[in-house]
Amino acid sequence: MKFQKSNKLNHVGYDIRGPVVDTADKMIQEGIEILKLNTGNPADFGFQAPDEILEELVHNMRTAEGYSASKGIASAREAIHTYAQIKKLPNVTTDDIYTGNGVSELISMSMQALLNDGDEILIPAPDYPLWTASATLSGGKVVHYLCDEQAEWYPDIADIRSKITSRTKAIVIINPNNPTGALYPEELLNEIVEIARDHHLIIFSDEIYDRLIMDGLTHTSVASLAPDLFVVTFNGLSKSHMVAGYRCGWMCLSGDKSSAKDYIEGLNMLASMRLCSNVLAQSIIKNALADYENASPLLLPGGRLYEQRECITNAINEIPGLSVVKPKAAFYTFPKIDIEKFGITNDEQFVVDFLNEHHILMTHGGGFHWPHPDHFRLVYLPEIKDLELVSEKLKLFMSSYKQKPSL
Ligand code: PLP
Repeated sequence: MKFQKSNKLNHVGYDIRGPVVDTADKMIQEGIEILKLNTGNPADFGFQAPDEILEELVHNMRTAEGYSASKGIASAREAIHTYAQIKKLPNVTTDDIYTGNGVSELISMSMQALLNDGDEILIPAPDYPLWTASATLSGGKVVHYLCDEQAEWYPDIADIRSKITSRTKAIVIINPNNPTGALYPEELLNEIVEIARDHHLIIFSDEIYDRLIMDGLTHTSVASLAPDLFVVTFNGLSKSHMVAGYRCGWMCLSGDKSSAKDYIEGLNMLASMRLCSNVLAQSIIKNALADYENASPLLLPGGRLYEQRECITNAINEIPGLSVVKPKAAFYTFPKIDIEKFGITNDEQFVVDFLNEHHILMTHGGGFHWPHPDHFRLVYLPEIKDLELVSEKLKLFMSSYKQKPSL
């Protein structure tokens, strides 16, 4: 008797922690030291949560022992509500706010509650692959729309329009974006809203990086531009407060909720089924969101994230055969490879070859549902001295790389 995974998982992939990572793990078991640049996990690179957050956590240990209401504790939802007002999310009450064990759990819930087999949902390429995985696992048919590297990695509006059918139920946007670091301007968001309006789509907006923006730019929540549509906005503390391990996220329903009564019932059912999200993690939300106005010094010139971005993007753009659009937010770059120059037909193999030769783990573009083998994602969380080493090794590798088809 063999136990097999369910058929539901047949078309589900999550390559950020997939086969290339398995190769890296084997190397680690053999005693090889690997620099892992495949996940956006700030704690791995010496980033720490502010002391106040830890103090708050310790302070609340006793009161967080029990389950909470399934949508979350009042103080957290009130703080999220205030934040939603600051971001001008229309028609949101505390009842429209759900806390989750990270945004991840809420992505999964929001897809499970919505999609019938064969329902279509528009998701960007490249994407944060959990969206595609969750929609697929829920029975949905994911249709990827392209983001355009020539245009700052903005979603290609004509491509979105061309991919809408009578079965399209929703569109996902990730803004600021993982893996490209793009930040969408208001005009572009308005065009997406117009499409959603024309075709009666729900907008799901993943905004987990909205407090990690550089160059004095500001973030607009798409929901603020769509009071007449039903929009679900996702956010959390994993990245802005460097507490990814605490699993602390939320979603806000906004706009025309009357069109989504039945869907909201489904969300409530799923929220109740998992009882509640981690109550201790919820207890830090109030204080964490209180200082939203102060841009973290990490993001200003001289700050770690800012300087690391400068270091890696400048270095990559100097390597013959590589180029990268400078990210405006988050901590990822999505460099392009001149695949003809290197004979590359398989991006996963490219990443494995680099791993084998230089012991640095990156993620191939296909892991983000990018349809061509000409990109990879590099997380720029390591300190400058490590990033300089990464750039040197990349330069050396690219100076002689020719892909042999073998995977
Ligand atoms: N959304 C995006 C765009 C992400 O990059 C990530 C994590 O990398 C998540 C959601 C998941 O975040 P959480 O830690 O809140 O589950």
